[in-house]
Amino acid sequence: TELDAAIDRLVRPIADWPEPGVTFRDITPLLADPVAFEAVIDGLVLLAEKAGPVDAVLGVEARGFIFGPSIALRLGVGFVPVRKAGKLPSTSLSTSYDLEYGSATMEMHVDAVVPGARVLVVDDVLATGGTLLAAADLVAQAGASVAGNLVLIELSALGGRERIGAAGCESLRSY
Ligand code: 5GP
Repeated sequence: TELDAAIDRLVRPIADWPEPGVTFRDITPLLADPVAFEAVIDGLVLLAEKAGPVDAVLGVEARGFIFGPSIALRLGVGFVPVRKAGKLPSTSLSTSYDLEYGSATMEMHVDAVVPGARVLVVDDVLATGGTLLAAADLVAQAGASVAGNLVLIELSALGGRERIGAAGCESLRSY
């Protein structure tokens, strides 16, 4: 489709970043193109509808903050930030997960989603799935549930979809 072509043109592969052997998909050229950026938001909102009605959109720091709020406003619900440890000012839930080297901790305000809420989780890229699983853990700790996961790009060779399992993930483009 036209949208696929725009993503292919405007998401730039950067070889050996952040470390040798990794090819990083750089979305900044896409963000700089207002027509393509809006078409991506339109596409993500269409995919979001597969999750059914949701009570909130949750975005993961940092690039989930770029796409999540626009989707939330289109759906008519609020936006909830999930942040790296130590950034949120009020009482927070916390979850740690393994990275290739070491581990990371992510946090969400304890009152950011109400028990029983259905939450849509948004990020830019699905790689190994660790980030979306960590977000799901925070949602579960709050007594809420993940109605769906939504990303712009899925890197299918990294097995994220398999790790996420039943919750599933919608993506606009798969490499
Ligand atoms: P995962 O936890 O699925 O292994 O990695 C996904 C997280 O790392 C996302 O938050 C995403 O922003 C970031 N990430 C991993 N690889 C890439 C990439 O190639 N491009 C971009 N833009 N983000 C990536």
